[in-house]
Amino acid sequence: ASLFASVEMAPRDPILGLNEQFNADPNPKKVNLGVGVYTDDQGKLPLLKCVAAAEKQMSEAPKARGYLPIDGIVAYDKAVQGLVFGAEHPAVKGGRIATAQAIGGTGGLKLGADFLKRLQPNAQVLISDPSWENHRALFETAGFPVDVYPYYDAANRGINFEGMIAKLKAAAAGTIVLLHACCHNPTGYDLTDAQWDEVIAVIKAQGLIPFLDMAYQGFGNGIAEDGAVVIKFLDAGLSYFVSTSFSKSFSLYGERVGALSIVSETAEECGRVLSQLKRVIRTNYSNPPTHGAQVVAMVLTSPELRKMWEDELAEMRDRIKVMRGALVENLQAAGVQGDLSYITRQKGMFSYSGLNAPQMQRLRSEFGVYGVDSGRICVAALNTGNLKYVADAIKAVM
Ligand code: PLP
Repeated sequence: ASLFASVEMAPRDPILGLNEQFNADPNPKKVNLGVGVYTDDQGKLPLLKCVAAAEKQMSEAPKARGYLPIDGIVAYDKAVQGLVFGAEHPAVKGGRIATAQAIGGTGGLKLGADFLKRLQPNAQVLISDPSWENHRALFETAGFPVDVYPYYDAANRGINFEGMIAKLKAAAAGTIVLLHACCHNPTGYDLTDAQWDEVIAVIKAQGLIPFLDMAYQGFGNGIAEDGAVVIKFLDAGLSYFVSTSFSKSFSLYGERVGALSIVSETAEECGRVLSQLKRVIRTNYSNPPTHGAQVVAMVLTSPELRKMWEDELAEMRDRIKVMRGALVENLQAAGVQGDLSYITRQKGMFSYSGLNAPQMQRLRSEFGVYGVDSGRICVAALNTGNLKYVADAIKAVM
């Protein structure tokens, strides 16, 4: 028999598979609300002006491409740390945080997972129910059993906070708890400030290991506002992990720019942690790529480019909010009854629409409106040109 005779066909990735289906759909009115990508009001993926300006500067002074350090561009790691934790925070100044460049937010998560597997080989991982569909697979592939904590409350269109807390309280010490720092994917529902305080108190009391996934900083309420959660954990004196993605916030999806930060109790501990993190990187891909992180480092460290970025990110955030409001209006105009305020309460790129799988399938087959079977739609892909069509299609399948 051939070497690969026993290799089974893997199931299609639920979201990227949807993209392939969308591209093959001849419907001229088709709308892609499946994948988590921000497009502008013309339906185009933006190239941010700050990115173009940084790349222009780079092309005017072209550089040879040597290997980077294992943990990436030093200026990038420092700038990311400043962005995520605040450059003036005593933990940053005291050298208690190790930050390494990673291949997107996914890469940051995987580095953290591999590091944790060596540290806590028998730990269990808890992710939210539901969560970004790659979380489970990623931690399982790293060798962990993965369970869920309650999160989405369909009946109340919000969070089952009591269920979440009860599950965390019942978790064994050393359990790894994956938390969405902001703009929860897929539901769009974020914890309140007071709820975060309660989660932190339980994590502390139970000796759990927090892992914050920050893939949408700046898409919720603002860069500092969204980042406040990460600093809450710092101020609570916890040791924890933060993965960062710039895919969305810089519209640099294909450059794969991200980071992993690990907060330790002392600078001495941090040095040992970083040395082990570098081993994880070295045995995975040796060292990271140069271009995207160089762009982000330039933008974050140049006052002029940074201001440009903050303005452009605010523009993306504000446009999504406008689209949420307009979706409510268009659904009401289409005749959808009931309280739709949940759509504007949700944060970030996604809305859990409450539609079921057969309805989502009808949206695709009859209208060419592509969302995920879970009912998740990407509101960051709505625009003035497709809103009414989408709202009418949703009404039609309800
Ligand atoms: N984490 C969450 C919650 C996400 O939604 C995503 C991307 O969709 C990622 C991580 C991965 O980001 P990246 O594309 O930078 O790997």
